[in-house]
Amino acid sequence: MENLKIADKALSKYFILDEFIISQTAERFNYDNTPSEKIISNLGELCVNVLQPLREIIKVPVIISSGYRSYLVNSAIGGENNSQHIKGKAADVLTPNQHLSETFNAIYKNLPFDQLIYEFERWIHVSCNGTKNRKQAMISKRDLGKVVYEVVYKELT
Ligand SMILES: [Zn+2]
Repeated sequence: MENLKIADKALSKYFILDEFIISQTAERFNYDNTPSEKIISNLGELCVNVLQPLREIIKVPVIISSGYRSYLVNSAIGGENNSQHIKGKAADVLTPNQHLSETFNAIYKNLPFDQLIYEFERWIHVSCNGTKNRKQAMISKRDLGKVVYEVVYKELT
């Protein structure tokens, strides 16, 4: 019951904690993916500064495909060791009701992101790092099997 209550915690008007901690990988391997208070506070900051305003700007649902990842969950999916997902500072999002490039542009133009990545044209990774946002926008692609990141300086077309 206690966990249920924590998971139901609202992070902002449209987002609850549960959306950020559900992980198929955690379920499959029985890894703990319970966030600390500090991580919950970081997730809250990401919602209040980026995801909630994004939802209000684009007016269509924003689906969280991956939020917080414990070290075990992150390494199981091949995430970078220093991934901001581990700190609860990043989320991967989908917007089934509008093209992802439009969602990318809405964040790029309007919101205080740290890193914004258009990932393989399949999802968007966005992070928020308090007052230390780098405003780094990139596109990820595969080149001969390797992941390459191309920095972008304007909206996607
Ligand atoms: Zn990500």
